Amino acid sequence: MRDPRIWITVVGLALGGWLISSQLSGGPRSLPVTQDELADAVFLCRESGELFAGKVRPTPALHPITGKETLLPALYCPKCQQWEAAPALEQQQRAAMVLKCAKTKAALERTGPVPETATRI
Ligand SMILES: [Zn+2]
Repeated sequence: MRDPRIWITVVGLALGGWLISSQLSGGPRSLPVTQDELADAVFLCRESGELFAGKVRPTPALHPITGKETLLPALYCPKCQQWEAAPALEQQQRAAMVLKCAKTKAALERTGPVPETATRI
């Protein structure tokens, strides 16, 4: 094991492997995400119950008319076919659980048909 060529080979293989793996993992995800590529989300005002549709943003988000932080993320219930208030995104991630409809116990979805009555924000 005194032969330095062995170590040069080992270092070379490790470096090559690192280069390949960093190339693979750093592919499309390294591109910046523009506003247009962000998914639309539906929000529910916790005071008025109004629905809003717009780009994903931190919640509670600003209500465009009252200027108060009352917009919470809404989740779509495929059974009730309506949007329901969801806990703040931060809480959802911490809980790491499937959110269910309080009425039907159906799993709520983050995407669904954006209601025509929703205000664009
Ligand atoms: Zn439901």
